[in-house]
Amino acid sequence: MLILDGKEVSNHVRTSLIPRIAAFKNKTGRAPHLAVVICGEDPASQVYVRNKKAACEKVGMTSTIHALREDITQPELTEMIETLNADEGVDGILVQFPLPKHLSTHEVLQTVSPLKDADGLTYKSLGYFFAGQPLVSPCTPKGVMTILKHYNINVEGMNAVVVGRSNIVGKPMAMLLTEANATVTLCHSKTKNLAQFTKNADLVVVAAGKAQLLGKDDFKKDAIVVDVGMHGSGQGGKLCGDVRFSELEGWAKAATPVPGGVGPMTITTLLENTCLLAEKRV
Ligand code: NAP
Repeated sequence: MLILDGKEVSNHVRTSLIPRIAAFKNKTGRAPHLAVVICGEDPASQVYVRNKKAACEKVGMTSTIHALREDITQPELTEMIETLNADEGVDGILVQFPLPKHLSTHEVLQTVSPLKDADGLTYKSLGYFFAGQPLVSPCTPKGVMTILKHYNINVEGMNAVVVGRSNIVGKPMAMLLTEANATVTLCHSKTKNLAQFTKNADLVVVAAGKAQLLGKDDFKKDAIVVDVGMHGSGQGGKLCGDVRFSELEGWAKAATPVPGGVGPMTITTLLENTCLLAEKRV
């Protein structure tokens, strides 16, 4: 079985960004800049935000963390985002979710300018994306497509199944596979007899958010299996995905492990999107 190594692909993409960032610097006198907004003290979010800043700096981009107090009001948060929208020195904006309960995710998704939406998840960005005119594509599904491309897996003509229909992963994943000429079935928690669909698929992308939901018996021989799931609840508290990866050896043609599969690509695609938005604006 071919292991689809997200760390390797991620390193490859990050290396390819370095000359693009250097060219941008030559042209503008500054590096592409990602502004990250975080509200409150959630420890996991703080780690994610620090990792994003460090990843930017490793490839030569710059990043600012705007750490806002937990009890910030909606108008204050909106004003902060609008300031970043208008700031010529900011190329990408990322608001870290989840927000404190009194704040509206919907309002944030309507406020961040699509020209600076590094995640590709605001309503306007998704509108352009689903209309086939993306400014940038949502990070996680785009990262999956980058992995497939890196390993020369051409999905054209394949029967593909996506398990999960969130706006962040499942729906845009189905869209990207459709655009790449796969025939796509989108499954979800109300799908009757999920295995009937997954077992007929050449490619299955699993993003159900249910630890170790699927195993060998759910896939046909020589299927390609991409596991987006991420859970800290595997054996011995180890990170695991939505797929029982150990069952796939000798059965699947190729698969992404967890950790080390789709996960590393999400942050890398955020860097790629920020660079792309910076290039588009100049
Ligand atoms: P989500 O918003 O909870 O969506 C889960 C989707 O899976 C829903 O559409 C749900 O159906 C469907 N589903 C749940 N149980 C199912 C079942 N038993 N059979 C079939 N479909 C089922 O989750 P998400 O944000 O898309 O994330 C999915 C997973 O990917 C999570 O584990 C998350 O941690 C992980 N993730 C990883 C990365 C990364 O960088 N690797 C990035 C984002 C997310 P309904 O719509 O009917 O409820």
